Amino acid sequence: MTVARPEIRSFQPPVRTLMGPGPSDVPPRVLAALARPTIGHLDPDFVGMMDELKSLLRYAFQTENALTFPLSAPGSVGMESCFVNLVSPGDKVIVCINGVFGQRMAENVRRIGGVPVIVEDPWGNPVDPAKVEDAFSTNPDAALLAFVHAETSTGALSDASALAAIARRFGALTIMDCVTSLGGVPVLLDEWGIDAAYSGSQKCLSSTPGLSPVSFSDAAVERIRNRKTPCPSWFQDLSLVLGYWSGAKRTYHHTAPVNPLYGLHESLVLLAEEGLENVWRRHWDNHLRLRAGLEALGLRFVVREDARLPQLNTVWIPEGIDEAAARGRLLTEFGLEIGAGLGVLAGKVWRIGLMGHSSRPANIALCLSALEAVLRP
Ligand SMILES: *Cc1c(COP(=O)(O)O)cnc(C)c1O
Repeated sequence: MTVARPEIRSFQPPVRTLMGPGPSDVPPRVLAALARPTIGHLDPDFVGMMDELKSLLRYAFQTENALTFPLSAPGSVGMESCFVNLVSPGDKVIVCINGVFGQRMAENVRRIGGVPVIVEDPWGNPVDPAKVEDAFSTNPDAALLAFVHAETSTGALSDASALAAIARRFGALTIMDCVTSLGGVPVLLDEWGIDAAYSGSQKCLSSTPGLSPVSFSDAAVERIRNRKTPCPSWFQDLSLVLGYWSGAKRTYHHTAPVNPLYGLHESLVLLAEEGLENVWRRHWDNHLRLRAGLEALGLRFVVREDARLPQLNTVWIPEGIDEAAARGRLLTEFGLEIGAGLGVLAGKVWRIGLMGHSSRPANIALCLSALEAVLRP
């Protein structure tokens, strides 16, 4: 033996309040669900729970889509799965970029040999439907429209219903990122006519990171079935994953993350118990509470009022504040995590999350008093 035995003990995480861009605070009932005994991933009882998960996700996404289930991977893989399954080499995809996650969508299209047609809006703005309309007019052969519903890098909410309607008029399918929107603001897949959507377990659903709920319309499934070239990713090929997540007889594809799925199940039971309308209202009411306090501290919002996400509040950092030092004090003195800026907003903004279980008056009170302490000259 050449490697000595390490003197490492069990990891005990510190107590934190999570008010960044995810993960959000995980409620005790979800943590308790995670600790239940692991059973086999093909055990009939587990398969029964998987079916409940699909029903719960259909409620969360407001869809009848048969192909609705959680991928065994984080939101980024949900994004990649939509593109690798729906885009074939040479396909034109209109990609809306108004922040970090739109940029990643374009990168996904490029890497699989698609042709991205970029529609750009300034960071902090929602996607402009008029620009999308123009892009389709000059590219009527575009096969897909892709956009981020809730851009977590800026806190802007785009009009998904309007964007999907434009794509439909031009005969294109729609891919929507609802990682941050699901469980925070209305996400109505069927009403809006969204063909492919992906989310994440750790944002407004308040489960642990590492799972990506996805949903595909019948038109999307048909597009996948009619591919001329196989999906370039074996693991993410939906036509293979399906044998595990649907049908009377489930076959092995990969070992599902059993306990994380218990956690997601419990978080979706909590969502259903509270009721979607009440969940949306709670996110909105708490946003108004936080907003009043932030404005009283003299902080200004980045996103214009009618496009703000209640669950992700981005504010400009005042002159003369050392942003990293202030954020460090929030963490060490108050056990509070908030988010830093990304991309062009790095060093300029803070992103304060009120996602899922983190969207509570007690969190807001802590955040406002901690911010007051670190902003005081
Ligand atoms: C967090 C996030 C992702 C990526 O999810 P991960 O779980 O971090 O991989 C994608 N899109 C948006 C809008 C997000 O907020």
